[in-house]
Formats: sequence, C-alpha cells, structure tokens
Amino acid sequence: MTEEEVYKLLERVRVYYQHLSKSDEIYEEWYRVLKKYNVEEVNKGLDNYLRDEKNRTRIPMPQDLIDGLITEEQKEKLKNDYLIDCNLCHKTMLLSEYDSHYSKCLKVKAVLLLLRKKGQVIEYDELSRYDIKTLERFLNENKIYEKRSFNGNKNVFRGEKQIN
Ligand SMILES: [Zn+2]
Repeated sequence: MTEEEVYKLLERVRVYYQHLSKSDEIYEEWYRVLKKYNVEEVNKGLDNYLRDEKNRTRIPMPQDLIDGLITEEQKEKLKNDYLIDCNLCHKTMLLSEYDSHYSKCLKVKAVLLLLRKKGQVIEYDELSRYDIKTLERFLNENKIYEKRSFNGNKNVFRGEKQIN
C-alpha cells in the first residue's frame, strides 16, 4: 500500500469508528504495518472485520486487517514455488510449506503408530487437526521405552572403519 492508500483506509475506518483520533503516530504505525500488503486485499480485510458484530465497538488494529493475507513479496516468492509430495503421507503441497508440514507429519505418524499399538485406529486427517504442541505433549506422555542391546562395540556400523 502507498502512503495515500493507507491514509484513505484510515478515513474509511473513521467512518465507522469516529472516535479514532487523527494523529501522525497512528497514521505512521498503520503505514508501517500495511505497506507490504495489497490495497484491495487490506480493504477487503476491513470489510470482513466490520462484518463481525463483536467488532462494532472495537476499533480495528492494522493487524486485524491482514489476517490470512500474504505480502506482495511473499506472493513473488510463491511464483517460484513448486509442488512436492510428502514422502510420509503422500499429500501434495508447496515446497515452501514442506518443512513445517514435515515436522508435524512425523509427529502425526508417530502418534498414529502409538495409538495403533494400543488398539485404537484413527485417521491421519483427524489427528492432523491438532497442533504440533498437542501432538508433542501426547507423545511425551506416552513415551515408549524400548530396551536395546548394544554389543559394546563403539563402531555400530558393520564394515565401517574403526575411527579411534
Ligand atoms: Zn506428510
């Protein structure tokens, strides 16, 4: 958004929230937050904000209007993105989403396995609705300790040269 667009947006906000004061600080802060975003999308963000009845008495923060939006810069990056299949769950996604998906996917798979051992069958999609913290907590509370026997040899990998 340009400075003028942010100025006009603030005027729009003032139509609904007349007690929003006119100050350079407010204007500058709104500009700082919104400058990276697209003018139409932010204005649509205001429309959405106004549609929610509980917001009638609450002046919006600039952050309220960019909920779910991506910056123009991020859009540019997405143009260079490509589709990739997760090798754990075989879902298709953007490469840029893959890292965060993968770390969660690993945990979902671990929980699935754990539940299956306990005789519970649950769908992947059902579990993936939980956030990663909840999944981690579940895993920590249900740690499985397995006894492993080592042969006392530091060199675990057979056929590899002994290092020291
Ligand atoms: Zn996956």
